[in-house]
Amino acid sequence: MGNIRFDALSAAISRKPKKVNPPSGKISDYFGELTFNEAAMKEYLTQESFKKVINAIRKGEKIDRRIADQVASSLKAWAMTKGATHYTHWFHPLTGSTAEKHDAFIMPVHGGGAIENFHGSELIQQEPDASSFPSGGIRNTFEARGYTAWDPTSPAFILNGTLCIPTIFVSYTGEALDYKTPLLKALNVVDKAAVDVCRYFDRDVNKVNATLGWEQEYFLVDTALYYSRPDLVLTGRTVFGHASAKDQQLSDHYFGSIAERVTEYMKDFEIEAHRLGIPLKTRHNEVAPNQYECAPVFDEANLAVDQNQLLMHIMQKVAKNHDLTVLLHEKPFARVNGSGKHNNWSLMTDTGINLLSPGKTAKSNFRFITFLVNIIKAVHTHEALLRASIASAGNDLRLGANEAPPAIISVFIGSHLSQILDDIETKVKSGKINAHLKEESDLKISKIPEILLDNTDRNRTSPFAFTGNKFEFRAVGSADTCSNAMTVLNLILADQLQQFKQDVDALITKKVKKDEAIFKVLKKYITESKKIRFEGNSYSDEWVKEAEKRGLSNLRSTPEALKSYISEKVIKLYESQHVLTKREIEARYEIKLESFTKIMQIESRVMGDLAKNHIIPTAIRYQNLLVENTKGLKDVLDAKSYIKLSKNQLQTIKDISEHVSAIKTNIDLMVEERRKANRLDSTDKVAEAYNSMVKPYFEIIRYHVDKLELLVDDTLWTLPKYRELLFIK
Ligand code: ADP
Ligand code: MG
Repeated sequence: MGNIRFDALSAAISRKPKKVNPPSGKISDYFGELTFNEAAMKEYLTQESFKKVINAIRKGEKIDRRIADQVASSLKAWAMTKGATHYTHWFHPLTGSTAEKHDAFIMPVHGGGAIENFHGSELIQQEPDASSFPSGGIRNTFEARGYTAWDPTSPAFILNGTLCIPTIFVSYTGEALDYKTPLLKALNVVDKAAVDVCRYFDRDVNKVNATLGWEQEYFLVDTALYYSRPDLVLTGRTVFGHASAKDQQLSDHYFGSIAERVTEYMKDFEIEAHRLGIPLKTRHNEVAPNQYECAPVFDEANLAVDQNQLLMHIMQKVAKNHDLTVLLHEKPFARVNGSGKHNNWSLMTDTGINLLSPGKTAKSNFRFITFLVNIIKAVHTHEALLRASIASAGNDLRLGANEAPPAIISVFIGSHLSQILDDIETKVKSGKINAHLKEESDLKISKIPEILLDNTDRNRTSPFAFTGNKFEFRAVGSADTCSNAMTVLNLILADQLQQFKQDVDALITKKVKKDEAIFKVLKKYITESKKIRFEGNSYSDEWVKEAEKRGLSNLRSTPEALKSYISEKVIKLYESQHVLTKREIEARYEIKLESFTKIMQIESRVMGDLAKNHIIPTAIRYQNLLVENTKGLKDVLDAKSYIKLSKNQLQTIKDISEHVSAIKTNIDLMVEERRKANRLDSTDKVAEAYNSMVKPYFEIIRYHVDKLELLVDDTLWTLPKYRELLFIK
């Protein structure tokens, strides 16, 4: 009888790199050729429509029906030159992935022929049957209608012969059923709030865009090995597997040279990404074996979010051509590093200024400090919400596992900026502000650029770190969409900036000079938000204790973290900024909890099944061999030698029985807890029970299975081992 593991191993070992032939010419020749970008619009749209679409993108102006018809027909003409036959509205339902329903351009005409057709109405709006997408009770199944509406700020693109039009997805009654709607709203409010604050310093600013540059981490495994691990196929992670004798101890993978088979794969998906206008720039090996990262040049946040969703899809698709499978899961392998998706975030004015870039003049530094302090304050006020924004079952396994930021949110700004904020708080007397800002005093504000240039002061352990001209939110999970994190960051900053303006204006009304008013308020904020600042090692146990003393939350599990969403404070925040209503938030809370519960349920079942029909039978088969062997020894040896020499075998036979019995007992107990959990009457209780009563069995069962993996004859073991999954490319 063949062993599936050995079949898979020999397939994996015999693979050759699949050479990729890049398109001829430079990357810039084909970059964005599959997107309806500005160059394509210029070529295909009338001058009038072009102007209208650009205004829609830059200023959020509405596009009327007549223009929409013109755009649709140009879009169709363009798409057909690229071989597109179908179109689809492309959206981000609350499942966290993307959804499409393709329709052909073709329309039959009288006489048996057909023409290609695409109207403005089809571009602007569609009504997909929404009944199978999660809605958290917003939409009854009998009222299946939901509609998608065109987002002109993210260019249409062509994927596999289909024109994809980025859209929002809302219920018939107007409630958001997707991740894009609240993101666009949050970006809009932060734009307005940031423009208002910018105008204290510079009257010319009319728009502020949030920017996002994500870094995507992932693992690759050979497809044959992947398919012989049912846990990888069904849950995206290995629920069992003893650590490989060698994994990442020698740090020899990080930034090491990339295996040829992997390089060819990377080149291949980069070509596709570049053709789709995704500006991928960086690729390298990550810390764990078979772990990698790619990152683009940053872009406007909504566009960057779409590009990340699209890239995750392309990475998975292209991997098939190389007999590789991408693991986007946050923790596919226990005891080696997990994967994250760092979100580099900043704000850019329409005058070309990065608001988080320390400037060269006192004025620009004053503005920089203003935004810096407001961000710190916003994170301090809403740390629990930020934690909730990145909560998922997969991320629970990564956060705080000594390789990723803990579940405690804090802000790192580096020693120089810390010193500056401390100085503002303690040394600067009001009334002296201008002098201090303009001269090179002990405040050093005008020295910031110089200081920062040689400031390589980087703290890799912080969940939210200032890195020279942007913040890097490192707690986002690798499989997650960036939308939630981006919505929350921009929303809390918008709210904070509005508060700031109110506080400053109140002082100005009392005849305090503008600069002094700003300074006073900043000083107050620095004091109020001090607790969120942490410059030390966030992975340490001391920090956990210290954070508790400071009153920062440490929400270790998804069900705990998600509760912040439905707190009065958060609902008030979302409602006052018109980003989501209470009902929409509650629906999202339900969906997230349900998804957590389902993941726990699936993982628990997969564990039970695999243990019962792979692990235990294999262990018993090996145990039988040992039993036969000891019986034989008894026949051939004298009694004294037998007692001496069979000791080891007998001990192994016993050990196997003990592990097998522990596995069985604990599976039964876990199943019983599952039953109890399923009987509970509310979504949050069920999720909580899965988290605190079912999940703890995972580690217990795994412990015994992994012990068996070490005991049992390697040739009998059916599941590919870590040393094979992680080292064979
Ligand atoms: P790291 O050392 O963390 O890899 P990099 O300087 O290479 O830092 O930048 C990482 C990511 O940050 C890239 O995707 C880059 O485009 C992005 N980034 C740089 N500047 C900004 C910005 N102003 N706004 C948003 N993202 C940015
Ligand atoms: Mg980084």
